[in-house]
Amino acid sequence: MLPEPKYDKYDIILDGVWLGRLNDRLARNQHVSDDQLEALRISHQVKHKLFEEAKRTQDGKRLRELAVMFEELEFLQQEAWNFEQDRKFHRWFDLPGCTCPKLDNGDRVGASDERIISTDCPAHNEDPWSPA
Ligand SMILES: [Zn+2]
Repeated sequence: MLPEPKYDKYDIILDGVWLGRLNDRLARNQHVSDDQLEALRISHQVKHKLFEEAKRTQDGKRLRELAVMFEELEFLQQEAWNFEQDRKFHRWFDLPGCTCPKLDNGDRVGASDERIISTDCPAHNEDPWSPA
């Protein structure tokens, strides 16, 4: 019989499925508390569900809402990691359904506030003057 998997406070589990593991060394370096670790685990569970919905949805308005929620989640994660809340570190273009250029935007993470938005991206290219 296989041994039971051993999880600790760094492991992210959702519905019995292991989603990943928080960087324990980074957590120690950043003096992340157990409460903050819990917030981070929950934020990753929420992100997983948010991404699952983004993959499924055919509704552009909903996808844009999810894009905004993802951004909020990234701010929460920065706070829980004891980092400055700074949108230039966000990986907003990782949202499923986003068609913005991954490499060009990835190169800018942490370096620039500039975002390259595809004109056809249903998540990020909203014309505020067009009826929803
Ligand atoms: Zn996009």
